[in-house]
Amino acid sequence: MMTRTHYQGQTTFNRQQLQRFIGGLDPSCPYTQRLASCGTLSAVTHGYVLRCQLPPCPACRSRYAAKQRRATRAMLSGSTNADAGMLTIVLGAAADITEVGAIVAKARWDLRNVVDACRRRDRRWESVSILAHMEMDAVSAEDVPLLGGERAALIGELARGVTPVANPIWIPTLHGVVRFDGIDWQEVQMALQRRWPIERQLHIAKFRDNLTVEMNSDNVTNYSLKHHCINKFGHVNELWPVSWMVEYYGWLAEWTEFLRRTRIKIGMKRYRSSDSSNINRTTNEVGVVDEPMEYSIVLPTLYNW
Ligand SMILES: [Zn+2]
Repeated sequence: MMTRTHYQGQTTFNRQQLQRFIGGLDPSCPYTQRLASCGTLSAVTHGYVLRCQLPPCPACRSRYAAKQRRATRAMLSGSTNADAGMLTIVLGAAADITEVGAIVAKARWDLRNVVDACRRRDRRWESVSILAHMEMDAVSAEDVPLLGGERAALIGELARGVTPVANPIWIPTLHGVVRFDGIDWQEVQMALQRRWPIERQLHIAKFRDNLTVEMNSDNVTNYSLKHHCINKFGHVNELWPVSWMVEYYGWLAEWTEFLRRTRIKIGMKRYRSSDSSNINRTTNEVGVVDEPMEYSIVLPTLYNW
């Protein structure tokens, strides 16, 4: 008889959970102390509050999400609900988390190549812009069928040929906003599906008509950055085991450092005159100048802290 993974029976990664997570970390891990001291007053500089700026920290993640909500709203400036949607791409499956970096890096180039090819054929594509974040799903191989029909079929297809050396299977996914002024959303979806063709691997969900563009935008950004580390089995949500979180966040912390040095941004293809006042450069708190974004893929979640 197969043994199910022991999930934690909780559905939120809160402050209490963070303490358990820290307890699972190797004390010599470079960010263990940084995480534990987040929000406390610095002993060195009077009145200065330490911020860990690490992915598992709920407080720092929430500040990061606020910044990304502003960036996404800026990208959608002047648009209507008909001009934008939520893009989801399930990128692949990996038995070893260290393989995920290559999967996501390739997806970033593929996405750029698809958009560039479309732009060469059709100038309407010059208005297409994307702001997406990587989120990770993880499930043990024996639990894949419990995810339910379509989801289980997709993961099964992506994981074909992946031999789990140890649990779990890692499933990197992109979520974000795509803007496509003047192009039908189905046309955009079909163009992208040529690169990600498996059933339910890529889809665009239209913005909801009963919400403002800003509300829709914020909802997508919040969803993209939720990092709940939860599996949905039918109606039951189960938080990952601590050991998975330790592996995931440890990897993410190292990988984001790497990507910070190699990030790629592509400036706007053209400016709409009515938007030009909104394209002022802004400087974030670490002094990095954010370029105006027409087509910019932010990877992974915490890459530009
Ligand atoms: Zn923090």
